Amino acid sequence: MTMRTYLGDAVYATYDGHMLTLTTEDGVNVSNTIHLEPGVLLALDIFRKRCFEASQPMMHCPHCGGPNDHGSDCVDYSRTKRREL
Ligand SMILES: [Zn+2]
Repeated sequence: MTMRTYLGDAVYATYDGHMLTLTTEDGVNVSNTIHLEPGVLLALDIFRKRCFEASQPMMHCPHCGGPNDHGSDCVDYSRTKRREL
């Protein structure tokens, strides 16, 4: 089964069940082709995640590095504070 979609900006993505292929096309001619095998696709996903996290530093707790959804109730923060006293 092959899946294909238009990503925008003349870029198409095709998935053949094994690798993802990116092409730039004007609707008739293909001008660029990049084949992303599973390992490369995984590396891209990891890099994209790193970029996203780097651009949103406040989403992570500075004390435990976890999602910053607990504010000053951080267990690691309390532990650090106790050590300082
Ligand atoms: Zn925390």
